[in-house]
Amino acid sequence: MAILIQLTRRTRAPCWFIPRKQLFSSFPRRHGGIIRRSMASDPATTETTRFDLLVIGGGSGGLAGARRASELGASTAVIESHKLGGTCVNVGCVPKKVMWNAAVHAEYLHDHSDYGFDVGNVRFSWEALKAKRDAYVGHLNRIYRNNLDKAKIQTIHGHARFTNDPEPTVEVNGKKYTAAHILIATGGQPTVLTDDEVPGGSLGVTSDGFFELETLPKRSVIVGAGYIAVEMAGILSTLGSKTSLIIRQTGVLRNFDSFISTNCTKELQNSGVDLWKNSEVKSVSKTDKGLEVTLVTKDPEKKNNEEKISTIQEVDCLLWAIGRQPNTNGLNIGEMGLDTDERGHIIVDEFQNTSRPGVYAVGDVCGKALLTPVAIAAGRKLAHRLFEGKKDSKLDYSSIPTVVFSHPPIGTVGLTEEEAIKLRGKENVKIYKTSFTPMYHAITSRKSLCIMKLVCEGKEEKVVGLHMQGLGCDEMLQGFALAIKMGATKADFDKTVAIHPTSSEEFVTMR
Ligand SMILES: Cc1cc2nc3c(=O)[nH]c(=O)nc-3n(C[C@H](O)[C@H](O)[C@H](O)COP(=O)(O)OP(=O)(O)OC[C@H]3O[C@@H](n4cnc5c(N)ncnc54)[C@H](O)[C@@H]3O)c2cc1C
Repeated sequence: MAILIQLTRRTRAPCWFIPRKQLFSSFPRRHGGIIRRSMASDPATTETTRFDLLVIGGGSGGLAGARRASELGASTAVIESHKLGGTCVNVGCVPKKVMWNAAVHAEYLHDHSDYGFDVGNVRFSWEALKAKRDAYVGHLNRIYRNNLDKAKIQTIHGHARFTNDPEPTVEVNGKKYTAAHILIATGGQPTVLTDDEVPGGSLGVTSDGFFELETLPKRSVIVGAGYIAVEMAGILSTLGSKTSLIIRQTGVLRNFDSFISTNCTKELQNSGVDLWKNSEVKSVSKTDKGLEVTLVTKDPEKKNNEEKISTIQEVDCLLWAIGRQPNTNGLNIGEMGLDTDERGHIIVDEFQNTSRPGVYAVGDVCGKALLTPVAIAAGRKLAHRLFEGKKDSKLDYSSIPTVVFSHPPIGTVGLTEEEAIKLRGKENVKIYKTSFTPMYHAITSRKSLCIMKLVCEGKEEKVVGLHMQGLGCDEMLQGFALAIKMGATKADFDKTVAIHPTSSEEFVTMR
């Protein structure tokens, strides 16, 4: 055992100095070793299981980091309190995309007759869709579990909490675990309002609750202006729920390029979403016909600051999409002395190091670029740094592409026009933009525009931002993001021969 402890201590030194074979061959691998000693904090607990890497949170970042570390020979365990796969698989990207796909079907139904189809009376079953979606998510949960088992990563089910032992140690269901490296990948959760903040606020659900809805709500109210609010409003409205979207200012997606924000706000209204600008929910009450949502609207244009009170009645789904907060409650990170920002996100450096040596964090819990591929990439990069000796391995957080599954979808990467001007000065920024009706809509009575913008910088017109909304923009973005990451200039775009007839060809023919 003495050897075990001594060797394990060595792994805390930069492990790239130790040949991998030597580093990982001398003590029980894979399932962790057990150290018997008396724990000052809890005399009843005398055993601590030790791993090379202990991951808290079996979501996108945690699983990716754990699997890569295991491939690199590290004995690894993942602690998960709910379902493997985390937010993305269970209550995020995956079930959301299934719902969006269904909504796209519903949209196309409007165009069928224009394309010569007589589809008669089409009926939609939310129940059938939900059953298929849930089965798919369940299937993914099992795949994740199998992948962990195959990689000989130990799965520990339960809520992790740091103890106050001198060495970073985690307790789950009364058992203690430690590791040379501990990764916090606990993600986030939707912000909920208490009844003190908004009387009756707890009668609403969040995006998590959206995925539990057993039937399509007849009347929905969504509160929020971020991408989750936009996506949920789009899905519900397109599938046939009368939907109101309550926003505090005049537009949605305010952090996006203003071209996108303005267009998306218009598209929501064009598609039939009832938009309440400059409005907030004042109170919610329950009646025998559903919820009654009382709103207060202040028109900033009016000098007397006059407030208008309105109610939306017979609401059967009130959905708060007002932001997300880091999952650090009950983790006892304060005891660990980890630095956090004012919203509770764990502060990390560019290598995902927290303020405590040997403890790292990736993904939503860090509050930067809350996206699955970001969490995955950061987790993998960290594994290469810790277990393969790649000391410079870190995620480059610049030019991260992102898609909003609105109707039509949005694709965006790099700087907005506003950011570019702020950073480089107006004289160094050149904008190219266009808006047109995609050929698909040439023969449909339903119309939606495609808008595109390139943000270019300097004399060489390096493309530093690309923003678009329109049919197919979701699938269009990845290739352009690659070009931008490689430093493409406007001249490179122009040199590329167009693909005709597509919408994407506009990006290489802009003048
Ligand atoms: C509605 C919605 C739609 C989204 N759509 C997209 C999209 O289209 N594309 C995209 O890229 N991203 C999307 N996201 C964001 C994406 O889901 C997250 O960025 C991603 O899941 C973050 O991964 P993570 O590993 O940081 O955390 P998570 O995936 O949230 O995983 C954290 C895990 O840690 C567990 N956990 C927390 N605390 C503890 C504890 N103390 N002990 C044990 N386990 C714990 C949780 O149960 C959870 O499983 C969406 C999110 C939402 C909510």
